[in-house]
Amino acid sequence: MNPHAVLDRAHALACAYLAEVASRHVGGRPTQAALHAALGGALPQGPADPVRVLEQLARAADPGIVATAGPRYFGFVTGGAVPVAVAADWLASAWDQNGALYVMAPAVAVLEDVVAGWVVELLGLPRGSSVGLVTGCHMANFTCLAAARHEVLRRVGWDVEADGLQRAPRVAVYVGEEVHVSAVGALRMLGLGARELVRVPVDDQGRMRADALAGAMADARGPAIVCAQVGNVNTGASDPIARIVDLARARGAWVHVDGAFGLWAAAVPELRDQVAGVERADSWATDAHKWLNVPYDSGLAIVRDPAPHRAAMGLRAAYLQRGDDEERAGMDWVPESSRRARVLPLYALLRTLGAGGVAGLVRRTCALARRMAAALAAEPGVTVLNDVVLNQVLVRFAAADGRAEDVTPQVVARVQAEGTCWAGGTVWQGRQAMRISVSNWSTTEADIDRSAAAILGCHRAARA
Ligand SMILES: *Cc1c(COP(=O)(O)O)cnc(C)c1O
Repeated sequence: MNPHAVLDRAHALACAYLAEVASRHVGGRPTQAALHAALGGALPQGPADPVRVLEQLARAADPGIVATAGPRYFGFVTGGAVPVAVAADWLASAWDQNGALYVMAPAVAVLEDVVAGWVVELLGLPRGSSVGLVTGCHMANFTCLAAARHEVLRRVGWDVEADGLQRAPRVAVYVGEEVHVSAVGALRMLGLGARELVRVPVDDQGRMRADALAGAMADARGPAIVCAQVGNVNTGASDPIARIVDLARARGAWVHVDGAFGLWAAAVPELRDQVAGVERADSWATDAHKWLNVPYDSGLAIVRDPAPHRAAMGLRAAYLQRGDDEERAGMDWVPESSRRARVLPLYALLRTLGAGGVAGLVRRTCALARRMAAALAAEPGVTVLNDVVLNQVLVRFAAADGRAEDVTPQVVARVQAEGTCWAGGTVWQGRQAMRISVSNWSTTEADIDRSAAAILGCHRAARA
């Protein structure tokens, strides 16, 4: 059999999908039972024609494919994938390189070094920071907070990698009340305990209050970590990092920043104020697969001082031919050993867009979010609940005149079923809200206008 036939077919199927992704019903429309029926069945006992397998897969999965790659998906914080990044991702699979060690994949190790330098420069972070290429921001939070745990305990003479946590000095961890659940998940896995976290009150946009942090840390002694956030998943607002760093420094605490999408504001001159002081933190977690629009799975764990980063993650064994420290061992910076060459799409994207193109992507999607907010807010009974400072818009939909209750959950359900666009629901400060995140490189003003009209149509129907 021609080995290229199956790759050619995949290429054709992928291109056909992308050619119509902008005109699909945006949400999936399957039932779970129908998907099971179409995709499941008994374990195959013998071989099948691979081209047929792909064709059947594409056909059967289709109703359950959500057009997140398209221009009118506004759920969660979901980027699409710039075509060159998809193409480079294909190469990552075809070359099938392992990014663990230089000796396994020299080109990948060098590309990781190059991209690490570019990303640090683009985000205005300290030169020489170490960068691990992880699966997403959740793992980036885990990696950075492991480095933090190592360092704050090392400073009091405790080797957490060798001696564990069971008899270790207590580590105080401060988070905002609006901390992202993945940072809590990371701290949980690190043995620091979700219930042990000191949750610092936030303001009306979800930003950690620096005065409250000062109060919470007033009598702090011993090892401490402050886990701050730039880019709240609901409002897009960022914690006051400069003041947080000042307070933490005065008490010898490590400052980690969860900036899954918000950190990219640092790459845009006129948005940089929102994250002022971010370069003074000790570690930063961010995503490339959200706002930077590379395919999943792509996150970045960045640590100012490479020593605790490597101490927390690095592994040694005689059979791992590590070479000298001039040769990058990708596995020193991530909680993984074998790992796909996820640097390739990132490299191709940064080479294609350049710093100006990345800033343009962020700037453009922020402008589109403001356009969406303005279009919705112009309608009676529709309230935008947040200051639209980045790409996030929170909206509340009132019931018919004068009635106190709102119809927000009904509008969200109608929008998802109607299919012009997709937006999720959330609860913001005790109120139901629709959450709109504009994160896709291909979204246009026409997409925003069409989506706003569809959302307002659903609101009118829900009020009727
Ligand atoms: C999405 C998100 C995460 C988790 O990132 P994944 O890429 O899903 O692992 C963490 N923090 C914030 C603020 C996020 O928005």
